[in-house]
Amino acid sequence: MRKARTNTGGEPFAELEGRSYFFDHGLMFGCTRCGACCTGEPGVVYLTRREAGRIARFLGIPADVLEARMLEPFKDGFTVREAEDGRCIFYENGCVIYPERPIQCATFPFWFQNLRSSRAWKEAGRRCPGIGRGRLFSKEEIIACVHASFPVYLKVAEFISTGGSR
Ligand code: SF4
Repeated sequence: MRKARTNTGGEPFAELEGRSYFFDHGLMFGCTRCGACCTGEPGVVYLTRREAGRIARFLGIPADVLEARMLEPFKDGFTVREAEDGRCIFYENGCVIYPERPIQCATFPFWFQNLRSSRAWKEAGRRCPGIGRGRLFSKEEIIACVHASFPVYLKVAEFISTGGSR
């Protein structure tokens, strides 16, 4: 997993860092590359303009071509298009932009909504077979992922609540 950058996330994190939580001793995760989170039911993946630029460079195509063919504008960034079968447009027998995948993907499954409670984490584990196996992520690493992904969580929530209205 690409190392999560620490980003300002606001109050929820100050609280998390200072108190005991169900993941005080860490949580195990190791992606099996099953693709379940990239295919199937529709989802929303948000990325910033900077992330889009990095992906375009990685793919060796102009940014405007990437934006026209694979992305949809949303607020100050983009959402990723889906193929007709519902999979992420960047998923072709695996993630074709894995080294430069957006922070939303790189921090999965350590998202705010999956870490609200041990129950939420267990529910996430029913959808992701990588949860509960692999290496142990420390509380500090987990909180760094929540920090990094929380602004995206807010964007995705906004997308859903507005129906994707720009
Ligand atoms: S569902 Fe979990 S194990 Fe499967 S590709 Fe996504 S992160 Fe990896």
